[in-house]
Amino acid sequence: MLKQLLKINVVEQCIQVRFGLIRVKILRKPKHIPSPVQARQGVFLWGLVQEHLECETLVDIERREDVGMKANPKLIDMHNHTVWSDGANSAVELIEDAIEKNIKILGFTDHFNTSKCPSISPEQLSLYIQEIVSLKEKYKHKISVLIGIEINSILFPMSFENLSFNQFEGIDFVLIECIDLLSDKFRLKDLEKYLNRFKCKVGLAHTDLFRLGTKHEVEGGIGYVVDFMKRNNIFWDINSNSAYECFDNIIYHQNQEEITELFEKLIKNQIEITVGSDKHSIDDIELGRFITANELAGYINSK
Ligand SMILES: [Zn+2]
Ligand SMILES: [Zn+2]
Repeated sequence: MLKQLLKINVVEQCIQVRFGLIRVKILRKPKHIPSPVQARQGVFLWGLVQEHLECETLVDIERREDVGMKANPKLIDMHNHTVWSDGANSAVELIEDAIEKNIKILGFTDHFNTSKCPSISPEQLSLYIQEIVSLKEKYKHKISVLIGIEINSILFPMSFENLSFNQFEGIDFVLIECIDLLSDKFRLKDLEKYLNRFKCKVGLAHTDLFRLGTKHEVEGGIGYVVDFMKRNNIFWDINSNSAYECFDNIIYHQNQEEITELFEKLIKNQIEITVGSDKHSIDDIELGRFITANELAGYINSK
């Protein structure tokens, strides 16, 4: 019965979706399987259990993903790791691969000065910037390359207290990760004084805005979070990597009203949305999810 139901979803989604925004993979939790109703209603379609599909269907879906990549005129990927931190490929390899995948904007975001994983040390930072700057120039006619770093906030406020902000000269943007995972004592307003000191754009990486809203219920919940982002000119990077739940929480959000409310707030406040594959190697990109996230970001940004 389950097998039948899933197969029907594939057929319906393939017919209805413009670029066939489907990524086939084994899901972690059964709750992520969309019901036929969700599949019909959703703008965001993804997620089927591979083992329940027949080979013929799989081939078809892969081809559709290819078409999706080629057909989207402005794919962006703002979250990438190279050998400068915990990635497997060089920056050049990622750029060459992104050009092949039709990605128009590629942002490098190697981890900066964190003990959680290999990262760029403060001493290495200028060399990293230098390398990406020269690649930016070299490839400027083929792809737009942006220089970023990813900062782990987990030891807040120490993680920000210790930053020497003048080091970041030449960087286009910073992604801050994990603020939604900080202890309940953490308040967004405590982050504000540090944000003012960045000269570049700042975005939130793989951050569950709902979770952040719940933690700031007293201040006004999700509305407060979006106001905070607006006030500090912060963008939101939707992470299409299935290692994180925040994207799934959007596309398979059980409460349609809540998600609509969030989108309306983001649009009303003109919060910029980007997409990050968070890839750590060339193969570490889930194309269906990545395309879906780009369509969603494009939709919100265009409003
Ligand atoms: Zn990493
Ligand atoms: Zn990352």
